[in-house]
Amino acid sequence: MDHFRYKDGRLYAEGVDVSKIAEAVGTPAYIYSKATFLDHLKKVQEAYSELDTTICYSIKACSNINILKFLAQAGSGFDIVSGGELFRAQQAGADTTKIVYAGVGKTDQEIVDAMNAPIGYFNIESEMELENLIKLAREHDKNPKAALRVNPDVDPKTHTYTTTGKKESKFGVDIERARRVFEEYGKNGQVDLCAIHVHLGSAGKTVEPYVEALEKTLKLIDDLRADGHTIEAIDLGGGYGADYETNTAPAAANYAAAIVPMLKGKNLKLILEPGASVAANSAIMLTKVLYLKKGGKKKFVIVDAGMNDLIRPPLYGSFHFIWPAVVEDKFMPGKRQKDMNIDGSEIVDIVGPICEGSDFLAQGRSLAPVQRGDLISVFTAGAYGYTMSSNYNSRPMLPEVLVDGDTFTTIRKRQTYSDLIALEKV
Ligand SMILES: *Cc1c(COP(=O)(O)O)cnc(C)c1O
Repeated sequence: MDHFRYKDGRLYAEGVDVSKIAEAVGTPAYIYSKATFLDHLKKVQEAYSELDTTICYSIKACSNINILKFLAQAGSGFDIVSGGELFRAQQAGADTTKIVYAGVGKTDQEIVDAMNAPIGYFNIESEMELENLIKLAREHDKNPKAALRVNPDVDPKTHTYTTTGKKESKFGVDIERARRVFEEYGKNGQVDLCAIHVHLGSAGKTVEPYVEALEKTLKLIDDLRADGHTIEAIDLGGGYGADYETNTAPAAANYAAAIVPMLKGKNLKLILEPGASVAANSAIMLTKVLYLKKGGKKKFVIVDAGMNDLIRPPLYGSFHFIWPAVVEDKFMPGKRQKDMNIDGSEIVDIVGPICEGSDFLAQGRSLAPVQRGDLISVFTAGAYGYTMSSNYNSRPMLPEVLVDGDTFTTIRKRQTYSDLIALEKV
């Protein structure tokens, strides 16, 4: 899996034995591979290089400023959804003109900060938001660019909670309404409404929804142009599949093979907002076995990481490949853990220490035999892992460690108990 590989039965992150990292920073911990991040970014950049493309990595997937810094240096722009993410991008030294800003509830302060940055495009989610942007732009004597977010009413066939491009969603406006929005606000003289934004949702596993959405959006752009509006860019959002189970998601090149020909010669700049497809496989979460336990017919492996550290399995029912960090030869992981049936492997639930029935990392999973103290790697933990973690059960948030070749650096320290109450001392 990318730059997390087993050598002689031991898991390495690039050139570093992950057990060494556990010795240095303890467990649980997030471990990132810089090379994997950059490889995934480069794959997207190359796949769309025929077009005038700006890749805006979606900060909410994984937002450590040290990671944003090297992505910015590699040419990435950023997709933000809050003032806090704008601040992070600025701290990382991003070219703010390559920032796009989505979100249904932007506050006045967030909008003013983004105009001052200045960012590239505001992705507008409603008429009222656009009116407010026009008003604030007038007051502050700015001329920001904006893209209207449209709902192409396409189902990416992912989990309901990660589906955002259907008609009944709180995001954007439907295609028919989009034309009326341009009619009413297209020539307001203050905000340059000159682009269309689409984001279908996350974790799609096929190319078709993008093709369908793009067809509908290109038709809309033709209509808008015929109505006399200048449309300079199309933002196709994110949601490109990240490979969680091995070879179950299309690669960037597969998406591009369908998308690029449709956009050639259309005189449109392309913006993409990949999050998970860049970040997901770029990290593991390393955790330690605390106890083994039987409950009726079930076997539980109780580890020191909980749903507060990685919430995706209970929240989205997401699959993460999970395997011990040190294994005997016969337990070298195969291609797909779901089908894995190695002699001597066991079917277990891997659960955390939190007081909730939903606190699991995997259920009914085959796992090589483990003992108290063994290290276990939860793969594909780079996207919506650390960024969705919390202090629930007053558990300090994990350290983030960045591996670069043969060296590793702690890019965020583990929280301490004092950190937990620091803001409560009144
Ligand atoms: C979350 C989000 C993305 C990134 O989605 P991924 O599934 O991580 O690729 C892109 N654009 C917008 C507007 C988002 O909200």
